[in-house]
Amino acid sequence: MPIKLPSFRPRKDAYPADLWTKCPSCSEMLFNKQLDKADRVCPTCGHHFRLSAEARIALLVDERSFIEADAGLQSVDALGFVDQKPYPDRIAAAQLATGMRDAAIRGTASIDGHRVSMCVMDFAFMGGSMGAVVGEKVTRAAEQALLERIPLIIVSASGGARMQEGTFALMQLAKTVGALERLRVAGVPFISVMSDPTTGGVFASYAVLGDVNIAEPNALIGFAGARVSAGTIAQELPPGFQRSEFLFEHGFVDRVVTRRALRGEIAQLLRYLVPSPNHPAPIEGRSLFDPIGFLTSLADKVVPDMGLSDETAPRPGEGLSAAVPPARAADREATRG
Ligand SMILES: [Zn+2]
Repeated sequence: MPIKLPSFRPRKDAYPADLWTKCPSCSEMLFNKQLDKADRVCPTCGHHFRLSAEARIALLVDERSFIEADAGLQSVDALGFVDQKPYPDRIAAAQLATGMRDAAIRGTASIDGHRVSMCVMDFAFMGGSMGAVVGEKVTRAAEQALLERIPLIIVSASGGARMQEGTFALMQLAKTVGALERLRVAGVPFISVMSDPTTGGVFASYAVLGDVNIAEPNALIGFAGARVSAGTIAQELPPGFQRSEFLFEHGFVDRVVTRRALRGEIAQLLRYLVPSPNHPAPIEGRSLFDPIGFLTSLADKVVPDMGLSDETAPRPGEGLSAAVPPARAADREATRG
């Protein structure tokens, strides 16, 4: 008698990954389509899931008002970096998975009728890491805000600087902060929105420099991870350390705003924060804080014999802003792909 072999039918998975998502906070199984409809906020417990840049823009701006800029910017593999796989392969995989060229989208839009310059990050693209492209987009968003004197809005979602770009990624910290400083001096408002997570180099540069810093509920916000921080200070960390609410209680974040209320909150802020019309030109206002002048005077005090001659010392009105354009031009060359 022949042995009857069992037939091998594919086992039906009770919860296909693309249909359902388990809420990490209340363990409720959520139907993905409904979760998307609820702007990826758990209807049971209010847990805020990560949101794509595209969905974030749709959530915040007036319908069809967003016009993307610099969509073609793409990273180059300047270092020939290989970890488990070559950096260009990682970029290609991330581009295929997300449909984005890099981890940020920038452009102009209107929010409740107010024209704004904005840059939105997406954690799904290589952990929202900041390389030359993200840094450049943030900088250009700030520069457009300065040029048009319209408010700047940046939504962060990032694990930090992109290690595959090494020093080029770290240089973005200085570049973005420089652009934001010129914006601040010119009296143009900047609203920073921190979503989960906002850490590392993004936290250490533009994300916390807003005139108003808004965070989404329970977002992870901080520089180094909790384990590293605890190890460094050799102390146990308080509960809720590096979460939005903890940072709000300690004055680091101005508002914790739910995703549903975010658009209304930003619209209200835009009514208050109007770019000042008769503000001194950026070059005059720079004297309020002059990092190069400050460092020069400090060096003079510490090393009196260093003797910076008048030829090498930056003249007033030169220095930072004069030094920036060539570096920026070189950087644009580097990011052109
Ligand atoms: Zn939940």
